[in-house]
This record gives sequence, structure tokens and C-alpha cells, in this order.
Amino acid sequence: MERRKVTFKLYPNATQAERLTGWIRLHCELYNAALEERIDAYRKTGKSISYYDQQNVLPEIKAARPEFVELGSHALQQTLRKLDLAFQAFFRRVKAGQTPGFPRFKANRRFSGFAYPDPAGWQLMQSGTRGATIRLGSGKDAMSIRARGQHRFGDGARPNDLTITRRNGEWFASVTLRVPADACARARTGDDHRGVDFGINDWATFDNGETIANPRLVRNEMPRLADLQRQQARKKPGSIRYKRLGKQATKLHERIGDRRREFLHRTTTRMVQSCAVIATEELKVNNMSRSARGTQDRPGRMVRQKAGLNREILSAGLSMAHNMLAYKAAEAGTRLHVSDTRQLKPSQRCAACWEIVPRTLAQRVHECPHCGHTAPRDQNAASVVLIDAHAWNGRGGETETSCAATRQVKVCDPRNPRYSVLRRLAAGEFID
Ligand SMILES: [Zn+2]
Repeated sequence: MERRKVTFKLYPNATQAERLTGWIRLHCELYNAALEERIDAYRKTGKSISYYDQQNVLPEIKAARPEFVELGSHALQQTLRKLDLAFQAFFRRVKAGQTPGFPRFKANRRFSGFAYPDPAGWQLMQSGTRGATIRLGSGKDAMSIRARGQHRFGDGARPNDLTITRRNGEWFASVTLRVPADACARARTGDDHRGVDFGINDWATFDNGETIANPRLVRNEMPRLADLQRQQARKKPGSIRYKRLGKQATKLHERIGDRRREFLHRTTTRMVQSCAVIATEELKVNNMSRSARGTQDRPGRMVRQKAGLNREILSAGLSMAHNMLAYKAAEAGTRLHVSDTRQLKPSQRCAACWEIVPRTLAQRVHECPHCGHTAPRDQNAASVVLIDAHAWNGRGGETETSCAATRQVKVCDPRNPRYSVLRRLAAGEFID
């Protein structure tokens, strides 16, 4: 059984929307009350309250406030767990010597939603060709909300948990499904072996020289966004016009996000469908997109330029792309090889003679002083990771040195427990 998350847009009618809003208000109230209780208890007695202490009070709350009953006990527990997680994260970061913010009280309109942690208290129904239906609650008070579209995993898929969220006045339901492996399978139409280098100038460069242009979604919409913000600055804060402009800016951000997701889904699907082997390198977006601001004593250089670069890095959605590649590759039976960037140094290594050729980011062309091999820098890097993938596989074996240099390279497979390589954003350099 695999796990897949599907997000449906919901279309509640006016009554249902009002009811859902009321539910969010109650969940928010519970969250804030539980937070206050933890703070109070600690101040007065020096003791901290655990999740279980708070969970055990839920029946009393429901007895005193019957409106909480229809929310479902597991959903209420989940909201308490959400607070508990916030505390755990806080203490973990304190322990690690960081300076995290203390868990905060949440305004009702900022409270994103609530969740059912198991298949109880709700149902996902889809039949025929019409959109799915999400049924919340049970008995005559149950609420059947229309959703757009259906998931593609067939009848064998078992819904596991559900999260209802409200974003900018729109409602969404995220369902985690437990899906039989064969229902996830994806057709593959080609058997190419491709190395790929993700970047900013071109979004992707392949070892054969093909490229995918960077859609530059943020940069293209920047003038419009700046315009909206300028207009808003001239309005009286809190006025209807002020809010309207704020909403337009939010919509614009949302549209950028939608278009980015669509771009990533289309390109990663195409890559996985046409390839038997895809080789790439680890991503360290956190370090790549670190602000250049520096400290007061040692101010950074080129802060504005780095901010612009960061915007493009984050906008390119590379980590989202890596995650999509990983699960889609598993579905299509494509081997995804992720090279260890620090060991392999694909952007410095010559794909022909395997020597390290240090160079700056500004040099766009690789010219090897050892063997004379010349190629565009990104294409050379893509070739290096592809060679690395072949060497790892024991096939090909283009160069002896590639094996020696990359003995420690990790293979990335979502089924492999060490798959977190992709997500582990450890210290290191991506851009040399
Ligand atoms: Zn060379």
C-alpha cells in the first residue's frame, strides 16, 4: 500500500459554508483555550500539561458546550495534537540552541482549518463521472459537500485521513489515500537515460543539450504586484478599498503558485515518462536561498542581488520538483539517481576526463584545461551526474575514476529509508 494525498476544491453551499466557518471558530477556540491552559498551569504551578491531560478534558467540554459534539472527538483531539506539536517543535528548537517563537494564540480568521486523523466521522464518495462528495458528520446532521473532480486511484483506494482548510475564502479537502501499488503505476513511453541539472537561467538542462526554459513566474508578475501594493499604500488602512486591493494581491500570489505547480507537474511527468534513468544531484535550497544580509558587525555583500536570486530559486520550485520526480519515478519504474553534490561536485568536474576544474558562477562554459573538453556549464554538470548514475549501477562504467570518486553516493528511492537525502538540507554548497 502506498500513500497518496489528493486535494479537492470544495463547493459548499451558503449554509454549509457558514457551518464550516462556525466549526473552524470552535476549533480555534479550543486551540487558544488549550494554549492558555498550558501557559497558566506553568505560571501557577511550574508544571507543564501534556497532550493527554488535555485530551481527557474533552468529554467535559462537550458536556458543557454541546456545540462541540458535532465536530467529532477525533477531530478535536487532532486540534489538541496540533498544539502539542507546536510545543514539541518549540522545545526541540530551544534545545538545539535556536531562538524559536513561543506558540501563539491564533485569530479565528487566520486559523486554517481542522483535520480528521482517521477514517471516522467523514466519508469520501465518488461514483459515475461527477465530482466527488465529502460527507462530514453522521446521521441527519451530516453535511454532504460537493468537490471538484475525482481521484484517479480507483475503488481500491482507502481514504485514511482528511484535512479541511479555508484559504482566502475558498475551501479545500485534502484526503490521504492508501492505494495498492499497482493503482499508482504510470505508463512509460521511453527508455532514455538522462542527466539533468536544475538551475536559474534555464530551469533544467539535460546532458544532450536540451533545455527547459525557466518560466520566471514571479519576475513576470512583479510589476503587477508592485502596482497593487503602491495603490494599496494610498488607501486608508482597514477601509473597504484597502482590503479589496489586499485581496487582489493575495489572488495574484495564489495564481503564481497555481501556475508553478502546474508547470512542475507537467515537466516532471514528461521527464519520468520518457526516461528509464534520471540522474540529478542533491538540492540544498535552504543554503542556496539563504539571505546574504549577514550580521550587523559583518554586513553581507550584494544583499539585494542575492534577494533577487533567492526569489528566483524559490520561485523555480526545485525542491517541489525533486519530490514530484521521486514519487513519479517510483510509479513509472524509472530509476532516479541523486548524486552527493559535495562528493561529486558536478558543476566543477569535467565530464570527459573527470578532473575538477574550479570556476566561478559567472563562467557559463566549461573548458577543460586537462583534456580540452568544451560544453555549456550546465550540460557538462548534467553529463557528470548521468555518468555517476551509470557507474553506481555497475553498468556502463565509462570511467574507473567515477566509481572511485563516488563510492559513497546515495541512491534515492522513496522506498529506501535513507530517501530523506532529498529533504535533508544539510550544510554545504550548491552554488560554488
Ligand atoms: Zn577534462
